This record gives sequence, C-alpha cells and structure tokens, in this order.
Amino acid sequence: MKFIQIKNCYKVYKNGVAAVADLTLDIDKGEFVFVIGASGSGKSTLIKMLYREEKPTKGDVLIGGINVGKLRNGTVFKLRRKLGIVFQDFKLLPKLTVYENVAFALECMGLKNSEIRPKVIKALEHVGLKDKIRSFPNELSGGEQQRVCIARAIVNEPKLLICDEPTGNLDPKTSKGIMEVLETINKDLGTTIIMATHDKDIVNRMKKRVIVLDSGVLAEDHMKGSYKASESV
Ligand code: ADP
Repeated sequence: MKFIQIKNCYKVYKNGVAAVADLTLDIDKGEFVFVIGASGSGKSTLIKMLYREEKPTKGDVLIGGINVGKLRNGTVFKLRRKLGIVFQDFKLLPKLTVYENVAFALECMGLKNSEIRPKVIKALEHVGLKDKIRSFPNELSGGEQQRVCIARAIVNEPKLLICDEPTGNLDPKTSKGIMEVLETINKDLGTTIIMATHDKDIVNRMKKRVIVLDSGVLAEDHMKGSYKASESV
C-alpha cells in the first residue's frame, strides 16, 4: 500500500470556490515531491488537507492508512505528532532560545528532559545549527531561522515532512542551503517530503517528482521533473 493516497478528492470552500477538484495521486514512502502551479491553483489547500487544517469536501486523504479527513477533532493532535510542518514565515517563539524552540513540542508531549536533549541536539545537527543552541531567533539570519524550523519539524522523527513555500522569504543562495538540508533529511532519514513552491530554479535543479496543479486539477505529474515542462501552466 502506498504511504499517501489521495482519492478523488475535492475541496470546495464555503464561498463556492473549488480549490481542489477530483484529485487522485499516490506518494511512496521516502519520495521527495514538489507541488507547483500558479497562485490560487490549490497548492496550499492540498497541503492543508494533509495535516488536517482543512477537510476534503468529498474523497479521501490517507496517510499510512489513516483517513485524515475522517479523524475526530480530538484525535487530530495524534496525526500532527507524526508529521513535521515547515511554513514560509518562521513562526518561532521569540522569547525562547533555539534549543527551547526545538524542544517545545516534546515538552508538551510530556517527554523527560533526558529524552528531549539528545533528540534536540540530533535535530540541530541535521540542520547544521548545533553551535547556535543558546541563540534567540532575532539573533539569527532568515536562513538560520528556517533551519531551526526544520529542526523543530523533524525532532520527533516524522515519516512525513510537509513544507509550504519554505524558501519563499529567502534569497537564492540561502534557499539553496535550505534545499540541501531538506535533501539530506530525505536521503539520510528516509523522510518523505512534500514541498509546495514557486521557485523555478530549485525545482529545475533538484530533479525530483513534480506535481503540477492547475485550477485545483492535477495537470501534470513528472518523475524527475522540472518547471520548464510546465511553463504553459
Ligand atoms: P495556492 O496555494 O496555489 O496559491 P490556495 O490553495 O491557497 O492556492 O487557493 C486555491 C483557491 O481557493 C483560490 O481560488 C483561493 O482564493 C481559494 N481559497 C483558499 N483558501 C480559501 C478559504 N479559506 N476560503 C475560501 N476560498 C479559499
């Protein structure tokens, strides 16, 4: 069975906008997948359905066999614990250090300090930020802040890492560094990564699977794809 199965999925918002229409696709464990398409094509809606920020109006979204859209509200937190999520804006807690930001979710889950520390150190090592452990977010560059967010997202060793425009606020050189971190996580930890992006250079360079949305519909799906193939979208 495929790790992620999206079956005949629709999302129609209350205002009548069909943001996603009849979407069917599968994603294997360990894949690295870009989701691209013009602004308004449904990328964020698809991403939000994966972490149950939105429910499909019709159809199914399954992750590891769990029908995410059908989870009771009270059990959504269990799904979220198994996912890592990285956004465009960093959403770090400004009064907490790098260590504390990464440790926060584990503390909320009730883990002991002796369990938390090695996990936090390992996550910060993966993103190359172990030496900034005592810094506060406002003492870091944008790229470093995004690395902290990635460390926070992977600290609980999720099987799936969801990224919504993670390089949207970063310059090309910094973005390249972030992509190298994500590629290493994908390769070394086997984490499945789904990333929505507008960044043509990144998509063309990385030669990963590319899913193109057009007005909520699956327009193209290329293994080792590029943005060029979909320039008409
Ligand atoms: P993208 O991420 O590709 O820019 P979105 O998923 O954000 O696309 O949006 C897809 C469509 O759904 C757009 O037409 C957008 O205006 C609409 N939309 C997104 N979120 C909402 C919402 N909460 N309520 C109503 N319409 C929405």
